Amino acid sequence: MTEGVSTLYQEILMDHQRDPRNFRVLENPDREAEGFNPVCGDRVHLQLSLDASGKIPHICFQGDGCSICMASASMMTEEIQGKTREEALGLVENFRSFMQGQEGVSVEGDLLALEGVKRFPVRIKCALLPWMALKEALEGRK
Ligand code: ZN
Repeated sequence: MTEGVSTLYQEILMDHQRDPRNFRVLENPDREAEGFNPVCGDRVHLQLSLDASGKIPHICFQGDGCSICMASASMMTEEIQGKTREEALGLVENFRSFMQGQEGVSVEGDLLALEGVKRFPVRIKCALLPWMALKEALEGRK
C-alpha cells in the first residue's frame, strides 16, 4: 500500500469516527440485536426496519467502542440501507471473508478503508462486531 492510499484510508476512517452515520435510536424497529466484544469492550446495539418487500429502509446503531468498531458500524449502516434482507446477509458473509483475508474477496466504497485492520488479528473482531449483530438481527433472534 502506498502512503497516499493509506492516508486516504485514514481520512475515511476518521471521518466516520467523527461523524458516525445513522448513530441514533430507531423508533419501533422490526429487528434489533446486541453485539459485545469482551476482548476490546466494544458494544453495539443495532436496530433496523424491514418493509413488506423485504428491504431494509432504516438501519441505526448506538454503542460505545473503539474507533475501528464504530467506523465499521457507521460504514455498514450506509452500505446496508435500502438493501434486501438476502442482499444484506450476503454482504455480511462477504465482509467477513474479506476481513479474514480470503483470496479474491473484496469490498466496495469506504469499507476498503478497513483493509489495514486485517494485519491486526485482535482488531478484526472489532471490525466484525457490528456485522455479526446485523446477521443476528436478520436471522430473527431478538
Ligand atoms: Zn474494538
